[in-house]
Amino acid sequence: MGERLAIEGGKPVRDSFLVFGSPQILQDEIEEVVKTLRSGWIGTGPKTHRFERMFAQYVKARNAVALNSCTAGLELALDVLGIGPGDEVITTPITFCATANVIVRRGAKPVFADIELPSMNIDPGEIERRITPRTKAVIPVHFAGRPCRMDDILEIARRYDLYVIEDAAHAIEAWYRDRKIGSIGDITAFSFYVTKNVVTGEGGMVTTDREDWAEEIRIKSLHGISKDAWKRYTEAGFQPYDTLYPGYKFNMTDIQASLGIHQLARVEENLKIRERHWMRYNQAFADIPQITTPPEEGGIRHARHLYTILLDIDALKVDRNRFVEMLKAENIGSGIHFIALHLHSFYRRNFGYKRGDFPKAEYVSDRVLSLPLSPKLTDKDVDDVIRAVRKIIDNTRR
Ligand SMILES: *Cc1c(COP(=O)(O)O)cnc(C)c1O
Repeated sequence: MGERLAIEGGKPVRDSFLVFGSPQILQDEIEEVVKTLRSGWIGTGPKTHRFERMFAQYVKARNAVALNSCTAGLELALDVLGIGPGDEVITTPITFCATANVIVRRGAKPVFADIELPSMNIDPGEIERRITPRTKAVIPVHFAGRPCRMDDILEIARRYDLYVIEDAAHAIEAWYRDRKIGSIGDITAFSFYVTKNVVTGEGGMVTTDREDWAEEIRIKSLHGISKDAWKRYTEAGFQPYDTLYPGYKFNMTDIQASLGIHQLARVEENLKIRERHWMRYNQAFADIPQITTPPEEGGIRHARHLYTILLDIDALKVDRNRFVEMLKAENIGSGIHFIALHLHSFYRRNFGYKRGDFPKAEYVSDRVLSLPLSPKLTDKDVDDVIRAVRKIIDNTRR
């Protein structure tokens, strides 16, 4: 038995609450936003296009289209690839609901394929097992920032004539062997949501080497009209617009891009900071048998978005959810990435999924816990997290 837990009336390991995934916003982006606000143009315009060019260059893609979310990017990807009713799309159950929701919104069927351990990424062999004549695409998710086995996934996609749409919400900085994530699959979608590695408030980007898809995504992201508003009103002369498709309203604004430009400029520097925190966690937990730390792996570059541990709940007197509450009482915020999607009400109800369908995903779903990992964290913050985790383990181990 260790110190008394805060949840049982003891003193928390820290006085102020450590927010999970709190964004790092610095002066450069604050000034850029203010400049944009004063510029007379706050919609989609020159800064959005500058951010797109920077991003395309960073991920080594020919084209990048800025959007208001990664979810929008995934939905547009399915749209331009012609995926709809009667089609099936294979993805992982260990992801955020958006990955599968967009498949449903297109009228297609989400088909889950189990993950592999210890990577927690979709198992290429399981993808192949789930392919039917209706399968049109696969959406691998680079979970936590660790690239999926893209060689195998691309090979299967080639053999069965499937599109590969990558959900790279966690993986801005990732490389698979000698290829940058964002330059591999047919279309890749990134997120700049508040907790992600690059933050624009809300925001996303799709990248693709196909000019025609990029152009169609761009047009469909802004009502499906032929000229974007920026060009309509700022170029010489007035250009009437023409509606080419019944489009969406998914465009990014220059206010968001103002944040993104400076966030992206710091992306490598911030990765190094998160790597340092990551290694300190690894070291601190190496001698705790109730904790499995994320595996290190050669041949890839991990984007270090989420530091996910697996709790050996059979060796503890509490389950993972109780562990989260205990951390919270110690003033440490944490996250759960993810509750396996096939166990969520909508997917059970509409597709008949149930516990037992994807044993490895369920194993992770019951045990996974994300600890704070942000460039904003100080070494003291990381120490507090480590102390809190140790304290709870000491009090709850069997
Ligand atoms: C955050 C996230 C998304 C959604 O990103 P938004 O930009 O919020 O739409 C999609 N997939 C995964 C795996 C995510 O973590």
